[in-house]
Amino acid sequence: MGNIVAIVGRPNVGKSTLFNRLTGQRHAIVDEISGVTRDRIYGKSHWNGAEFSIVDTGGFAINSEDQFEQAIREQVLIAIEEADILLFLVDVSTGITDYDEAVAEIIRKSGKKAFVVVNKVDTHERIPESSYFYALGVDQLYPVSAINGSGTGDLLDALVEALPNKTDLSEEEEDLPKFAIVGRPNAGKSSIINAFIGVDRNIVTPISGTTRDSIHTRYNKFGHDFLLVDTAGIRKKNKVHENLEFYSVMRAVRAIENSDVCILLVDATRGFEGQDQKIFNLIERNRKGVVVVVNKWDLIEKDTHTTKHFEAEIREKTAPYVDYPIIFTSALTKQRIFKVLEDAVAVYENKKMRISTSQLNDYMLPVIEHNPPPAHKGKYIKIKFITQLPSTTPSFAFFCNLPQYVKDPYKRFLENKIRKKWNLTGVPVNIFLRKK
Ligand code: GDP
Ligand code: GDP
Repeated sequence: MGNIVAIVGRPNVGKSTLFNRLTGQRHAIVDEISGVTRDRIYGKSHWNGAEFSIVDTGGFAINSEDQFEQAIREQVLIAIEEADILLFLVDVSTGITDYDEAVAEIIRKSGKKAFVVVNKVDTHERIPESSYFYALGVDQLYPVSAINGSGTGDLLDALVEALPNKTDLSEEEEDLPKFAIVGRPNAGKSSIINAFIGVDRNIVTPISGTTRDSIHTRYNKFGHDFLLVDTAGIRKKNKVHENLEFYSVMRAVRAIENSDVCILLVDATRGFEGQDQKIFNLIERNRKGVVVVVNKWDLIEKDTHTTKHFEAEIREKTAPYVDYPIIFTSALTKQRIFKVLEDAVAVYENKKMRISTSQLNDYMLPVIEHNPPPAHKGKYIKIKFITQLPSTTPSFAFFCNLPQYVKDPYKRFLENKIRKKWNLTGVPVNIFLRKK
């Protein structure tokens, strides 16, 4: 299950630089897939075989000057609530500020595991200066230079060591589909969960977590046995934080990380907006299954084309990834509520699909022969062999003589051919070109 590490600290201490270093991103970059500027809030990090997510709390805009202190404080509180571990970043060149002290105090009171990371220790000479931060009342400091990378190896070693091992599920439960209901505030998440659960409370048991409140609740409903992620958290709303974008993104990240398939709820009265798109991207980047649910459909005045237009608009915004279910529901009238679960189960099955090597080659090699990759500077590219890799999301390796010359449009062509032949609706697919 996914672990989330949040970077907190005041502006200019180097959060964004550290985030880029730990996620292997050089700059705030343009996303290859969507062509939009990738926000700096969320990324994956790998170290010593462990994988975890990193959230940069500084990536969220803070609106007005006078709310500034309060807003940052709020972000720390949210990070404490939603992340597994905090990286509390301070700046050796400024020493301890009032704000640093305030944050240290909040973290200490919360009991949350936090690493105090002293940044901008670019040279060995500055290491003694960093020890000044022991005054924050911590046992250990991690001096680093986010800019040149020094000290980050030791930090990552310690971090990976400290990640909680959150296997709070039994073996049987591990095999059940895990669904997360995500979406912007007010999209109807609680309402749809209540609609699922209905009056006969056929809930098995909230599974008690080892490290914190349970994140999975098991349901046996409508002929399906499944786990819903973090439903208690959704239903017990935190009204103070509700409308902060940072809060809803943290919530979504946590739910997405702990799921197989995400049910993305969109408010029909608002359309598919920036925040919906952001959550969709998070789901896709996490390689989770997705079902898009346009809720509050009862409030929409409809003619024969309304559904089609709505669908087209959503797919246009998520293109080139367009192969996923879209369902129009009303949590209020319970219209198509069951369909949501059915589709989520179907996507879960699609995600587990294994295609045999012989089936893949028998189908794909002739397709490729008819439509080979474009030659590169007069060199012919020949794909010889295809196999599905063992992985939690369908991933296909195409072995070929010159893999580096196969471009994204051709990879998409391959992906689309696979999608046409096999049902991978709602599932992100990885296409790798490998040297043979
Ligand atoms: P944030 O506001 O906390 O996200 O801080 P940024 O990552 O934007 O960094 C603020 C400034 O500090 C930028 O000018 C960075 O280049 C600089 N900076 C970040 N990390 C380091 C470091 O390790 N050493 C030095 N010397 N400067 C750094
Ligand atoms: P959440 O913040 O995503 O959990 O959203 P809620 O479930 O709290 O719903 C927000 C508001 O929208 C509430 O007033 C609900 O009664 C209302 N609502 C939710 N689903 C529907 C729906 O399908 N139709 C209508 N008309 N209202 C809905």
